[in-house]
This record gives sequence, structure tokens and C-alpha cells, in this order.
Amino acid sequence: MSIVYLNGEFLPIEEARIPVLDRGFIFGDGVYEVIPVYDRRPFRLHHHLDRLRHSLDGIRLANPLSTAEWETLIGRIVAEAEWEDQGVYLQITRGPAPRDHAFPKTVTPTVFVMATALTTPSAEIVTHGVAAITAADNRWLHCDLKTTSLLANVLLRQLSVDAGCAETILIRDGCLSEGSASNIFMVKDGVVLAPPKSNLMLPGITYDVVLELASSEGLASAVRPITDAELRAADEIWLTSSTKEITAVTTLDGKPVGNGQPGPIFKRMHAAYQTYKHQVMRGKND
Ligand code: PMP
Repeated sequence: MSIVYLNGEFLPIEEARIPVLDRGFIFGDGVYEVIPVYDRRPFRLHHHLDRLRHSLDGIRLANPLSTAEWETLIGRIVAEAEWEDQGVYLQITRGPAPRDHAFPKTVTPTVFVMATALTTPSAEIVTHGVAAITAADNRWLHCDLKTTSLLANVLLRQLSVDAGCAETILIRDGCLSEGSASNIFMVKDGVVLAPPKSNLMLPGITYDVVLELASSEGLASAVRPITDAELRAADEIWLTSSTKEITAVTTLDGKPVGNGQPGPIFKRMHAAYQTYKHQVMRGKND
């Protein structure tokens, strides 16, 4: 049985309890991170901790732990978990307080960390890709913050579940923002395109890795706004996230993307991603 961390204690998940007045429960007043761990090595840990700091700053909550304390804590959770490959989930809320929208005068944040088994895309998904639908991006204007207030993302993701698809790709004001739980790339005429980081999308850690790998593969790439029409005329579409890594989208709103199979640039990038991951496992990168 895996051990979780809650407010200074390591305990079995069944025994972990939080008060019902925790602002995470009442308001979704908190932030989180998901860190992939391969062979018990956290992947890009410092990038995740930097993004966590950005999210905490964005909701005006002091970071309860130093970088060294996070490293130690995550290291212990990873060491005690039963799996070699894990997803480490961490969440910080503004803690328990009488229900009032305004911040409590004194805050004792709730800090929770757990590991789960990491399930990366199956061979079937790598070979054939996944289907996606599009929907209007009706979220708030701080999508760069990884907050636990995920109701809009949850509802948008469910649209694709209802349609038998793997992801909902979001369009705001005629342009691609991201997926309900992923970043989106496209390829046109050999050029890898990605929307620029802004308040309208989460700055994905995998997004950065994919842009770095595209450059080291010698591929042409451009980070610029992508219109809905361009997306629909793409030769290839990919989604990226810590758990989905890089996955080809082969059907969009019921129509084939390109020839309806993962494209040649996806295949190169997928191979490059796997090579990079193995370097990380051997300790050559963080
Ligand atoms: N956008 C959203 C809305 C997400 O929830 C996620 C992560 N699940 C991503 C993008 C991808 O971020 P990362 O590559 O850091 O997992």
C-alpha cells in the first residue's frame, strides 16, 4: 500500500483526512502539479517546481516548502511507492477556515503529495493515434495557473468522452489555445507550429521538451497564434502532456487529420522523446 504525505505526516492514503472546511474543498482554492517519474527519477522536477511557484504566486499563496524540502519530500514519496514509473501528484490549498470568499487572516496551507502508477500511451495509441473534438474555450483568463479549480476543464473533457474521443481541443476567439488537459501542436508543410505561451494556456513542461527536441532534430518550428482554420487544414496534430507524452491526433471532429494515421514528423518526435526519456533514466538529464 502506498504512503502519501499530508501536512507533515507520511501515512496510508486510507488514513489521510482533511477538514470539510478546507478551502480546496469549498472553493477549489489551491494549486497542483503532476510530475512524471521514470525508473524512480522525477522528470524535469525543477521545471515543475518553478511552475508550482508561478501558480502559487498567481493565487497569492506563499510556497510552504523550500526547493530542497520539496526535493526531499518528493524523493521519499517516490522511494516508498510500489512502482518504478510514477505520476507524483502534489496539491497545496489555502487550508481550512470558516467559509468566506476573502482570504483568512492567518493561513495554514494544506499540503498533499501522492504517487500513482504512471500509464503512458499504449502501443495501439502510438501506432494509430487518437480522436479529438473541438469546443469553445470557455475557461477563465488565468489558464497559465495550474489551479485545482478545474470544473471548466472537467466539463470540456467530458464532451470528448461523450463523443468517444480522447481529448477536447479548445478554440478561443478563432485561435487554438490548448487541450482540456494537454497542449496542442500541429504540423503544416514540414513546419512544427505551437501557440505561444500566454494567460490562455498552461505552460506545459512537455510543450517545452517537444520544442527543444524539434530544434535538436533540426525541424523547422514556429511559435505563433494558430487559427481554427489552420488547425483543420493541418498535416499532423499532436497533443502533449506529462502522462500522454506526445500523442498523435488522427481524427478531428470526425474528419481524418492528414491521411488519418500518425505522420512522419510525429514518428521522429516520438522516437526522440523516448530517447530523451531513457537518457533521463540513466541520469544524463533532469
Ligand atoms: N494544459 C492543460 C490544461 C493541462 O491540464 C496539462 C497537464 N495535464 C497540460 C496542458 C500539459 O502540461 P504538462 O506537459 O506540464 O503535463
